[in-house]
Order: sequence, then C-alpha cells, then structure tokens
Amino acid sequence: MNHVVVLDHPLIQHKLTMLRDKKTDVKDFRELVDELSNLMAYEVTRDIELKEVNIETPITKTKGRVISGKKVAIIAILRAGLGMVDGIIKLIPSAKVGHVGMYRDPETLMPVSYYAKLPKDIDKRDIIVVDPMLATGGTAVATIEYVKKHTNSNIKFMCLVAAPEGIKAIHDKFPDVAIFTATIDEGLNSHAYIVPGLGDAGDRLFGTK
Ligand code: URA
Repeated sequence: MNHVVVLDHPLIQHKLTMLRDKKTDVKDFRELVDELSNLMAYEVTRDIELKEVNIETPITKTKGRVISGKKVAIIAILRAGLGMVDGIIKLIPSAKVGHVGMYRDPETLMPVSYYAKLPKDIDKRDIIVVDPMLATGGTAVATIEYVKKHTNSNIKFMCLVAAPEGIKAIHDKFPDVAIFTATIDEGLNSHAYIVPGLGDAGDRLFGTK
C-alpha cells in the first residue's frame, strides 16, 4: 500500500514552523506538540467506521451516525511520543495507551526494548503508534514489529516530522502501515538528526538540555 499522508492544513503548517524555531521555549514547544497531535488525530481517524442510529431532537425524530468500529489504542514510543498522547486523547477519550521504550545496543546498533506495556485488549483495537520524529526508522520498525506480535489489527504511524529514510524503513518492512506526518524533510545528518528538523524532540519537550 505504501501510504504516506502529509497533513498540509494551514494550521498544522503554521504550528510546525513555530515548533521548528529554536527560539520556541519548553512551554510553547509542549503546547504546540499537543495542538499538532490534536489536529492531526482528526485526519488520522478519518476512516473510522460509523453506524446509523435513530435519535429524537427537540423538534422531530431523525437518524444520526455514531462511531461503531473498533476502539483505538495509542502506542507512544518513549520518551518523545508521550508529548503526543494528550492531544489525541482529547479527540478519542476512549483510547487506551501503551508505551514502548527502546535503546540502541552500542555493539549491534539494533534497537532493544527496555520497557513495554500494551493494553490487554490490544487485539480488539486499531493502533496508532506515535513518535514526533521519524528519523532512521529503526525504533519505529522495532516498535511496530513488537506490536504486531500482539495483534493483527490495523496499524497507523503518526509523527510530526519524517525523513525519507524513516518512511522507506517502515514501508520496506511493513507496506501496510500508513504514515501520517506534518512534513517530509530533506533527510538525516551524520548524527541521524533530521534536517532541517527541529532538534531533539525529547529534550525540547522535557527541557533536558
Ligand atoms: N530524534 C529527534 O528527536 N530528532 C531528530 O532529528 C531525530 C531523531
């Protein structure tokens, strides 16, 4: 399928530009990640199934449509993925949240999971894996691999900034995973940072630098 959706709504692009700016402080950065995640969740959930129901307005009987499909599980990749959770939950309050933490083995350079807790009923939910930055794709691929061991559900990947290398890494392995991003940037520098990117999303979210 190799499905990539760049969400180029003016509000999303405006907030992304503010997010990239190195003068944006921790408080504003956090708020922008929250707002962007909220706006993007609106598009990411566009294909949720609806069913028709009968209701009565103060004026007359009528039909309406309500969500009928599978519920959602958000899987946040630690630590920067945490910054995206609340913005999505505001739109999908029934979503459950799983967490996956990965570090890169210094010898093999492969991502290794140091923490993972998924919702028990994950196989009954559609999955949105979230991480603000899709750089090499190593962590994203390892996380999707882990999630796929626990469910056959549909998986979407949502980030704010994607590098072409990361998109390729996901789609080489998982062509069925749709990727939603606010931008596809030029590529990676020699330290695997996205260019132009926005720096280290975790440090900017949590003020650790
Ligand atoms: N992770 C980040 O936080 N920023 C990058 O540019 C790449 C990976």
